[in-house]
Amino acid sequence: MNHFANVKKIVVKVGTSTLTYETGKTNLRRMAKLVSVLCDLQNSGVDVTLVTSGAIGVGVGKLGLSEKPKDTPGRQAAATVGQCELMFMYDKFFSEYGHKIGQLLITKADIENEERRRNLENTFEKLFHFGAIPIVNENDSVAVEEIVYGDNDSLSAIVAKLIHADALVILTDIDGLFSANPKEDESAQLIPVVRKIDDEILSLCGAAGSKRGTGGMITKVRAAQTATEAGIATVIMNGSAPQDMYKLFDGRQCGTLFLPQKND
Ligand code: GLU
Repeated sequence: MNHFANVKKIVVKVGTSTLTYETGKTNLRRMAKLVSVLCDLQNSGVDVTLVTSGAIGVGVGKLGLSEKPKDTPGRQAAATVGQCELMFMYDKFFSEYGHKIGQLLITKADIENEERRRNLENTFEKLFHFGAIPIVNENDSVAVEEIVYGDNDSLSAIVAKLIHADALVILTDIDGLFSANPKEDESAQLIPVVRKIDDEILSLCGAAGSKRGTGGMITKVRAAQTATEAGIATVIMNGSAPQDMYKLFDGRQCGTLFLPQKND
């Protein structure tokens, strides 16, 4: 069964480790490839929303810092610098294909407050109407611990629910969810389909994300849980080959597909 056959609205989430090199500088080749695929999907009639990380990572690179600041104001300041750079690059790449983008910086409080949530929904709606592509990140410069989602995996699932997306694709630096840690266990197998996210599946997630990213596998699978419970098919796949997203639309296996739990 092709779970992407009728997808008309998709949220794609890309993480810092996919967008940047170890040096902290932007991986331009990757970004250009990703944007061309997103533009092509948009051209084919799918409403695309991109949830992007990388503000802090790119800010760290641009400011010439040796590592992510340990203090919150330091990370927030880096995010303000990196966010500009990110949007500048996205605007440049999306414009090459004739597409317009709009920036939405969201905090948890914006989603939890009914009026602000409605405003957001209206803005998304209008952007789709205008044929512009929403680019979302957490509003890192104002978000302190108590009010953040903290990782964009959760944010991507919340956004997918908010805009009633049909599918969520989380791009990361690994091919999907494995039966064991593939870095430590050679017999680890990619799990192509997850029908239900239960304790056994959660136990496969391990800890730790990469040095530049935030979440790791657990936040991705939890995001898949939030989305699939809302009837949204979710895929975790490798962001190093964004063109593999076409496989999903062709009904071919790619990454780990988490089946929707209900269909609205
Ligand atoms: N909002 C953070 C940033 O743009 C990223 C959070 C995450 O890595 O999930 O740097």
